[in-house]
Amino acid sequence: MHNHPLSLNHYQRPTLATPDGTNKVLLHSCCAPCAGEVMEAIKASGIEQTVFFYNPNIHPSEEYELRKEENKRFCDKLALPFIDADYDADNWFARTKGLENEPERGRRCTVCFDMRFERTALYAFEHGFSVISSTLGISRWKDMNQINDCGVRAASHYQGLVYWTYNWRKRGGSQRMIELAREEAFYQQEYCGCVYSLRDTNRHRLACGRQRIRRLANFYGQKRDEDIIVRSL
Ligand code: SF4
Repeated sequence: MHNHPLSLNHYQRPTLATPDGTNKVLLHSCCAPCAGEVMEAIKASGIEQTVFFYNPNIHPSEEYELRKEENKRFCDKLALPFIDADYDADNWFARTKGLENEPERGRRCTVCFDMRFERTALYAFEHGFSVISSTLGISRWKDMNQINDCGVRAASHYQGLVYWTYNWRKRGGSQRMIELAREEAFYQQEYCGCVYSLRDTNRHRLACGRQRIRRLANFYGQKRDEDIIVRSL
């Protein structure tokens, strides 16, 4: 294990083991508030990890860059390798064509997860990983079964590759995720990521008499507690 500046001793974590017993994981990550806890949990178990950032769904590009930089910042803090994969947004729009009006957790999201996990699985295969997983499942806004199905499907294309379906929310994970987001003052995105989720979240807010999303503006721990309606968690 690398030495790093974070103390992991104050939080009683379960010791994790990968599904095939190996000590190495390629972790697809999305946004820092969710990813941070999962990275920390894997590290605390002494499992080697490489973080794979492939999220061409995030729109627009400034939003993508900020989310990526936040993720990388925490990777650097934990001394973890960070793979900055393509931002091939054109391919993402092509794959989700016709699904623009699907609700969140619907068919567009399946396509979105498939695309991101297929690339993760390919990278794993080409670089000697036998286990992949994703930080996406820790978010309470996501359907974990949908994510796991997509992950298992992506891994199934390569012999010997498994998708780790661990429930990161359990055994203190969700609480630690929020605590860590505040400790690190992570950027607090207020919509899932794609242009359609931005549109739909704004529509919902306006219908509820709330203000539109303020992109690139909010960081955890810098708002009043009652304002922390944690969209990303
Ligand atoms: S709502 Fe989120 S998961 Fe669904 S398609 Fe958009 S970015 Fe992907």
